[in-house]
Amino acid sequence: MIARRNIKIKGIVQGVGFRPFIFRLAEERGIKGWITNTPEGVEIDAEAEEIALDDFLKDVPHLAPPLSQIDQILVCDGASLQGYDSFSIIESSLGTERSALISPDLATCPDCLRELFSPQDRRYLYPFLNCTNCGPRYSIIQDIPYDRERTTMKVFSMCPRCRAEYHNPRNRRFHAQPNACWDCGPRLWMKDEPPMGRDSIKAAYQLLRRGKIVAIKGLSGYHLAVDATNAWAVKRLRERKGREEKPLAIMVKDVAAVRKFCEVSRAEEDLLQRASRPIVLLRKLQVNPICEEVAPHNRFLGVFLPYTPLHHLLFSLGEGAKEGLLALIMTSGNLSEEPLSYQDEEAAQRLAGIADRILLHNREIHVRSDDSVSRMMAGREVVLRRSRGYAPMPIRLKTSPPVHILGCGAELKNTICLLKGENAFLSQHIGDLENYETLLYFEETVRHLQRILEIDPQVVAFDLHPDYLSTQYALSQEGLQKVPIQHHHAHLCSAMAEHQLEGPCLGIICDGTGYGTDGRIWGCEFLVGDCLGFERLGHLRYLPLPGGSASIKKPYRMALSYLYTYLGEDLEELSFCRRFPPQEVQVVTRLLKCGFNSPLVSSMGRLFDAVSSLSGIQDEITFEGQAAVALEMVAEEGWGGHYDYGLQKQPEGYIIDPIPLIADILADLKAGASAPRIAASFQNTVIHFLLDVAQRMATATNLNRVVLSGGVFQNAYLLEGLNRQLIKAGLTPVLHQRVPPNDGGISLGQVAIANAQLNQSQGK
Ligand code: ZN
Ligand code: ZN
Ligand code: FE
Repeated sequence: MIARRNIKIKGIVQGVGFRPFIFRLAEERGIKGWITNTPEGVEIDAEAEEIALDDFLKDVPHLAPPLSQIDQILVCDGASLQGYDSFSIIESSLGTERSALISPDLATCPDCLRELFSPQDRRYLYPFLNCTNCGPRYSIIQDIPYDRERTTMKVFSMCPRCRAEYHNPRNRRFHAQPNACWDCGPRLWMKDEPPMGRDSIKAAYQLLRRGKIVAIKGLSGYHLAVDATNAWAVKRLRERKGREEKPLAIMVKDVAAVRKFCEVSRAEEDLLQRASRPIVLLRKLQVNPICEEVAPHNRFLGVFLPYTPLHHLLFSLGEGAKEGLLALIMTSGNLSEEPLSYQDEEAAQRLAGIADRILLHNREIHVRSDDSVSRMMAGREVVLRRSRGYAPMPIRLKTSPPVHILGCGAELKNTICLLKGENAFLSQHIGDLENYETLLYFEETVRHLQRILEIDPQVVAFDLHPDYLSTQYALSQEGLQKVPIQHHHAHLCSAMAEHQLEGPCLGIICDGTGYGTDGRIWGCEFLVGDCLGFERLGHLRYLPLPGGSASIKKPYRMALSYLYTYLGEDLEELSFCRRFPPQEVQVVTRLLKCGFNSPLVSSMGRLFDAVSSLSGIQDEITFEGQAAVALEMVAEEGWGGHYDYGLQKQPEGYIIDPIPLIADILADLKAGASAPRIAASFQNTVIHFLLDVAQRMATATNLNRVVLSGGVFQNAYLLEGLNRQLIKAGLTPVLHQRVPPNDGGISLGQVAIANAQLNQSQGK
């Protein structure tokens, strides 16, 4: 029986190779009819045997292109048969085409890889091959609509063979804008050397083998590459880059090679191989060829797999394990704290003092993105840095705003977010807005995303902190409605928005710094609320941060603050104080005594800092969160000990007093307990008191869902421990997955809140 079906598919189905996919599937199955883009997605009209149509509908969701995301399939029986004689792609009018989403940059797909290494293929060893399912996108798009003329590929005119593929809907390269080959596409060369064709990769490989630092222009920015098994080379890179201890990511040929030095679960294996190719934090094996300098004092390594043809070619060189490259450090090509280099002249200048040689190409990068970072926690992927391979795919909200909204994010790990309709477009990771270069990158990202997504915000949401550059940017925008948003409220709503939760939730928000509504620095907050508002039900006891935010780099100062609160001036008797110059201890005590330049903080990050220093793990830091990470890394696994804590119900809410646990740590230190034990006992205690407050809040409010957000929840020990305990207590934890728990998620929370408030004020 021949039947006809009209099918509407909603979701992310444009600009992701969806129409050619349907075209090929329909042809394969003998289905006639057509497909076209519509403002909501795609519409298909299909005629065939009823069984074939049913199979087709069943298979679409499973076989759909990797980037697509199907939210809904609506099927109607067609009224009358049309007698189509073929299946065709109907070009839609320009107006609807423009609502298409922009794909992130994607790792080389298996089909292209096969071609790359098959000598008969015309793209054999071509370092820029790609197709509809892989290759550069976001990084090369200059304007919309997305076609070759408006990408940095416009300078390469396709050869007849590439053009034929491009126009053939049966071909994998149908409408693949960056389509290229040896005859017509981009080229690679070693800077200051005559073009060597394929040999420039060999030259880079040989330099790397000899321990040299090679800057490599990649998909969305420059990397600095060095052999990760060569301690001398790694030290040299750290010195030149000005990056003392922060872990460096390594690129490894394949999963089998990763297993030589890391534990890899099935889920982690999948994550490593995803087209977004994030850096995945994996547990190191005891015996390990990767030198300690890559990630000092860390139980984990950040590992990712090759994601461009060039990477694959580099790892294919050398005969066997002895000569091949096992693992390369691939760190962003910049000086510490500056944004990633992406333009050739600028890179040549900035990287000249770091790299021994530069391997570059002539496909211009229009938008840079750093590598993304993920970690499997509590059985799911938690994105810690959402950038290349993810941005600018939107997070879908449940409701849409009456006007477009811009969220400016926070200060550290900044991202911006643009809300249009139900799509919240979260930008790539921009970085710490502490220097001029990063601020320029921020402004450039706002401008470019507005342009290519056709977003014209009339409302700007921003952090309450008056000193943040993102706040100052927001306030300087003339003619826009300004919506200031409390930092931890944004954290709460960022997780709720990600999971499309609307009703009020409880929130345990733990991070380093957030400006409170009382003008103090918050950071361990017990909230209840939703996008329309929140109430602070409690927090960690306020303690002074002697010396203000400059002291964040010196965790021992926070330890002194806790000790001073506990012991007063007797603290100078402690052996702990003998680790530091007497004048320094005196200066800090004096600050604490008079309260000068010692803002009050309720920060979980600072509590971790204090304990990290007190237990002898880390007294000073060179990057954000270092002391807390070090504490997590040394904590003895399986140790069940814990400390005491105070919990008082005061007029302003539940106040956690950490002084009893400081007293217990001092006792433990006196008894000679090891740092790993103290670290474990401390973290167990944090889990205990967070659970304690969660249960009290749940009883008081009759709410069940508990959002865990804030940068401290990048700590797997804490997140997984608390998650388990909350479930055991009958509560429902809400964890971040696609949006970082750290300040990278703040801009999403900001637009979600502004959205709800605008809708409410308009009576919707
Ligand atoms: Zn491909
Ligand atoms: Zn060509
Ligand atoms: Fe935060």
